[in-house]
Amino acid sequence: MLYRLVESGSKPQIRIQAESKELKNAPTFNTVAQIKGTEKPEEYVVLSAHFDSWDGGTGATDNGTGTIVMMEAMRILKKMYPNPKRTIIAGHWGSEEQGLNGSRAFVADHPEIVKNIQAVFNQDNGTGRVVNISGQGFLHAYDYLGRWLSAAPREITSGIETNFPGFPGGGGSDHASFVAAGAPAFMLSSLNWSYGTYTWHTNRDTYDKIVFDDVRSNAILVAILAYKASEDPATANRERIVLPVDSRTGEQRTWPEQREPTRKGGLD
Ligand SMILES: [Zn+2]
Repeated sequence: MLYRLVESGSKPQIRIQAESKELKNAPTFNTVAQIKGTEKPEEYVVLSAHFDSWDGGTGATDNGTGTIVMMEAMRILKKMYPNPKRTIIAGHWGSEEQGLNGSRAFVADHPEIVKNIQAVFNQDNGTGRVVNISGQGFLHAYDYLGRWLSAAPREITSGIETNFPGFPGGGGSDHASFVAAGAPAFMLSSLNWSYGTYTWHTNRDTYDKIVFDDVRSNAILVAILAYKASEDPATANRERIVLPVDSRTGEQRTWPEQREPTRKGGLD
C-alpha cells in the first residue's frame, strides 16, 4: 500500500515502533518417529520434511505443509498398515533454513540407518500438489519409483512428471543430505502456487495460503509410496550415474559430498 501511495504521488509518513530482545542462542532439534518394521526392521523408509521456518510469517507453506503431509501419511499408515515390512521413519528436521543442519546431523550420526535406507521422500516447496519427481542421479530409480508410483490412483499421479535419471541434488532441501551419502532420496516437488514469489520466506507465509485439497493429495501419495517402498521384495538399487562434463569448466562433475552440519549455530 505504501508503495502504491508513493507511486501515485502521495507522500505518506510512517512511524515505526520496534521492540526486540536478545534471547541468546536457542537449541534446535529433530523430531523423529517410527513405525517399526516386522520383516526387515533394519531397513528404512524415511518421510522427510523440515520442521523449522523462516521468521516473518508462521511458515505455513515453508514448511508447515511438508510436515502436515508426512504426519498425515504416518497417521494413515499406522491405521491401515500397522505392521510394515520395513521400518518407516518420519523425520522432521530442525535448522534446515541455516543449512540442512538437522538432516545432515541425522545422516552423520546414524550411518547404520543411512546405509539401509530403501527410500527417502522429502517435501519442502509449498502447499501445491506434487508435480515433479527427479531420479536424483540414481540410475535405476526409474524402475522402482516408476513401479511404486504406478500403484497410486491416476487422480493422484496424473499431474506428476518424472525425470530420470536426473541429477543429484546438492542442496536446497533435506533430501540432499541423504543423496550426498548415497541413499536413494527424492524431492517431491510441488506445483508452485506463487510459492517462490509470494509466500516463501515472507510475512505472508500464513495458514490462509494452505490449499488443503493439494495437501490431502500429497498425503495420499506419500502414504502409497511409503507402503510400496516398504513392501518391495527388492532393495532399492543405489547405483549412481556417471556425471557429465561441466560445460563451463570442462571438468567432469562429481557427486555432491556429504557435509558436516553446523552444530552450534556457527559458534563452533
Ligand atoms: Zn523450506
